[in-house]
Amino acid sequence: MTTLETFRPSPGDLPTRDAIPVRYKWDLSAICRDWDEWSAAYQRLDEAIEAFKAFQGTLGQGAETLLAAFEAMDEMGALAYRVWYYASLQYDEDQRNNDINARRQQVQILFARQQQASSWFNPEVLSIPLDEIRTWMNADAELGVYRFAVESLFHEQEHVLDEKGERLLSYSGRFNSAPYDSYSALTTADMKFPSISLSTGEKVTLTYGQYRALLETNRNQEDRATAYRTFHQSYADNQNTYAALYNGVLQRDWFHARARGYATTLDAALHGNNIPTAVVENLIQVTKQGVEPLRRYHRLRRRVLGLESYRLYDLFIPLVQHEATYQYDQVGAWIVDSVAPLGRTYQAAVREAFDHRWIDVFENAGKRSGAYSAPVYGAHPYMLLNYNETLDAVFTLAHEMGHSMHTLLSHQAQPFVYAGYTIFVAEVPSTLNEALFLDLMLERAGSQEERGVLLQHAIDSITSTFYTQVMFADFELQTHRLVEQDQPVTADTLNGIYRKLLSEYYGDVIDDEPVSQVTWARIPHFFSTPYYVYQYATCFASSARLMQQLRAADPSTRAEGVERYLSLLRAGGSDYPMELLKRAGVDLGQPDTVSAVATELDALVARLEQELGVR
Ligand SMILES: [Zn+2]
Repeated sequence: MTTLETFRPSPGDLPTRDAIPVRYKWDLSAICRDWDEWSAAYQRLDEAIEAFKAFQGTLGQGAETLLAAFEAMDEMGALAYRVWYYASLQYDEDQRNNDINARRQQVQILFARQQQASSWFNPEVLSIPLDEIRTWMNADAELGVYRFAVESLFHEQEHVLDEKGERLLSYSGRFNSAPYDSYSALTTADMKFPSISLSTGEKVTLTYGQYRALLETNRNQEDRATAYRTFHQSYADNQNTYAALYNGVLQRDWFHARARGYATTLDAALHGNNIPTAVVENLIQVTKQGVEPLRRYHRLRRRVLGLESYRLYDLFIPLVQHEATYQYDQVGAWIVDSVAPLGRTYQAAVREAFDHRWIDVFENAGKRSGAYSAPVYGAHPYMLLNYNETLDAVFTLAHEMGHSMHTLLSHQAQPFVYAGYTIFVAEVPSTLNEALFLDLMLERAGSQEERGVLLQHAIDSITSTFYTQVMFADFELQTHRLVEQDQPVTADTLNGIYRKLLSEYYGDVIDDEPVSQVTWARIPHFFSTPYYVYQYATCFASSARLMQQLRAADPSTRAEGVERYLSLLRAGGSDYPMELLKRAGVDLGQPDTVSAVATELDALVARLEQELGVR
């Protein structure tokens, strides 16, 4: 019998990296054996960048030179992954390490050179008539591999202006970020965080982190109300400034859309991924029709919490108290079990991730915070965690494992050019893995409390990653339409739109709180990346739809669903995301796909009602 050295994190104690047993730390030797090998790879990339310049001016000569240039691009790309991640993953182990930070910056400088040395490439491809490249691709199978890359490059080109127009637009680049930069300064650097006194006499400064923690843990409704009102009032006090900044965002988006010849700002935002605007419109419309399960959940919360009035500040207090800790050594086996429905090969890959140290598990002094999955081409995916034995940490692990399996399957099946995938599909496997894990945990939960906590976790993730994000997308669409139709944008109009949305989504199950109408002012996404958040919702809907197939009673429907899902993962970025999803049986243009989420939420709320004995 072998005894393994175990480790468990203890609150308030931050270990050094050396104090953590090796098996909980990732093994980066699959990327490079050591720094010598890294230096050699760096050298090779440096040379490849130099050599690439020789291709300039040759692409139009024929299939052979074009293919050679594409392959040289791929070689540079593949080397770049290894050179970057070997340095950057080690930097994240302990960000205080200046030597490694210097190497990481060395790579960034090389990347900037790579970009300069290949900036001529796309314009030169685009200068060859598309029909001619098509003829070459039809005749040469190896060049044919690049068909989608070429077609999508030309697709993007449709809205590129002539040289004079592009130069003019490029001059505007410097002030495109002015609205967000100002927003960011106003909400962080120049923000005076308000203080409040709690019912206990304790004083709290309301940074966003403190504010959220208070709403999630403080059982005194008056304290939550004070925190909520004070926090939002600091935005209301500057609402005219926020409205002016947001108007800047809207006008900028409309300027670019019109300059490039798009009919609307939404068309401009969706063109790159070739997504029809009807997808976003359908998402919003169907979700609005499916708000009943959301309201049912909040009626349940009001009753269980025993609150006379129920307001937006009561949404985050847990219904069930259950202090369970989840030891990492146990959880790995559960995650492996949970993916059994996806077949043995998939399951074996998940086991390998645990057994062969693809994961850096625990927090240590200097380590980067949060969690991620790093897609290291030429090696395998790596996962960084700060595992602290909470239920959230367990689901984070399941989530990152979903990303990692997507990376693994895509890298195995696709040529380099399509190995990466877009954000539009990225959150499908991560949320699907979470759903599979939830199913297993619910089955195995030993007590009613534990089932209650699990159900609430699942429900909260649907309300926050789906309903809230659709409501945000709804807001963005309506506000952009204001400027498209030459309507004024003031704090009053924006407050009015937000107030109306709250009532359309929550109806009368949440009591009115006047200051809530200014919530739009504290959502950074609106100011930094317009038309982005809807993708969380479409991913969530896709994954709910796929789960319906995976849970089907009929074994052959299930088997078919698994096969289609795995082929989605294997497809990487080889086509437009809508096409990839359609082949997996998910059509986001169809109302059914979106309403799968409401159906799932309703089932979960019904189950929670049952567990809590409330009907
Ligand atoms: Zn994710």
